[in-house]
Amino acid sequence: MVEEIIKKAENFFEEGKKEIENITDEELLEKWRIKFLGRKSFLNQLCTDIPNLSKEEKIICGSKFNELKKNLIKLYEDHKNKVRKREIKYNLTFPGRRFFTGNLHPITKVIDEIVDIFHRLGFGVAEGPEIETDFYNFTALNTPEEHPARDIWDTFYIDKKNNILLRTHTSPVQVRIMEKYLPPLRIIAPGKCFRRDSFDSSHSPMFHQIEGLMVDKNIKFTHLKGILTYFIYEFFKKEVKLIFSPSYFPFTEPSAELSISCVICSGKGCSTCGNTGFLEILGCGIVHPNVFKNVGYESSEFTGFAFGMGVERLAMLKYGIDDIRHFFYNDIRFLNQF
Ligand SMILES: [Zn+2]
Repeated sequence: MVEEIIKKAENFFEEGKKEIENITDEELLEKWRIKFLGRKSFLNQLCTDIPNLSKEEKIICGSKFNELKKNLIKLYEDHKNKVRKREIKYNLTFPGRRFFTGNLHPITKVIDEIVDIFHRLGFGVAEGPEIETDFYNFTALNTPEEHPARDIWDTFYIDKKNNILLRTHTSPVQVRIMEKYLPPLRIIAPGKCFRRDSFDSSHSPMFHQIEGLMVDKNIKFTHLKGILTYFIYEFFKKEVKLIFSPSYFPFTEPSAELSISCVICSGKGCSTCGNTGFLEILGCGIVHPNVFKNVGYESSEFTGFAFGMGVERLAMLKYGIDDIRHFFYNDIRFLNQF
């Protein structure tokens, strides 16, 4: 008789042990507690048989029941701790938390896009300092002492006596790269530039440029035209007309300005293109032999081309933005659109 009762009690304990393992929340754990430790539990029901046992049997049975009950309580307490800890982590009934992941700034996005297009043409990315010396920003780029760009009214000088300034264009990166490496070279250099301009709808004292440079044997203007044509088509995803018109930059000879048919009005004439149907996009040219001389290249051996474009202007045209200041106001309603 007693063996039978003990066997039933042990089976009940094993059942409890098995069931509790799969419990992952407090509600089910409470149901388990009532079933295995509650007043009406099977174990307590078995206890009603005890008075029918002999004295020795009562003792054996009682101590066995106490042992099993103690073990069930321990199982319950241990599991309760586990469930609570886990629940804090995985409670699926918590209200969802909204994540603000943000997105890339439109200027960063456009830079990435441009870099990507030139990557496909084998151009690597180069970087240079935003605080430059007069030598890298002007002298090495064949810009003479009396050039108006060197004027204090156009350039932010940090230390005029020592000719330390905020770079006015990304072209100094060309010089720094050519000083370090020999041709063949194919780089683009995106970055911030600074000029003493007023902050209005089309000017900002801080803006972004992307510089391009390719140097090798027998590089000609046709290479420049081919690369820029590919770039414009890829960037605007439109068949536009391109016009290269003669221009002047101290560091290129010949120099040209690239205009494209207006991407806003398709060349019909609008306020963006000043009713001309064309937009100036960038400056470019064949690297001046004096620049090669300044970096120690043999200009009889190598030729190259360079170009520089304003990122804000390209972004404005691509996305139809009419005021450059939108990029810097940090208005979330504007930035969220990209
Ligand atoms: Zn237009």
